[in-house]
Amino acid sequence: MSMEPGTTVSAEVERLLPNPQPVTGCDICAALYTQRLKYMNKSSPEYNPARAAEASHEIRSHPHGA
Ligand SMILES: [Zn+2]
Repeated sequence: MSMEPGTTVSAEVERLLPNPQPVTGCDICAALYTQRLKYMNKSSPEYNPARAAEASHEIRSHPHGA
């Protein structure tokens, strides 16, 4: 991994990851949202834009029977 975290990467991540809408009261969405925040936090050792993107996708595609 040679990619350095920086403002350019951060802006790119923000652009690629429109804010997902976790459903209130859904534990799965809440957990995914928490993970996403962790993966998007550059000061976290778990910073990982690819995983943040996955979490966003899962939140948006999580079915709720609606
Ligand atoms: Zn959900």
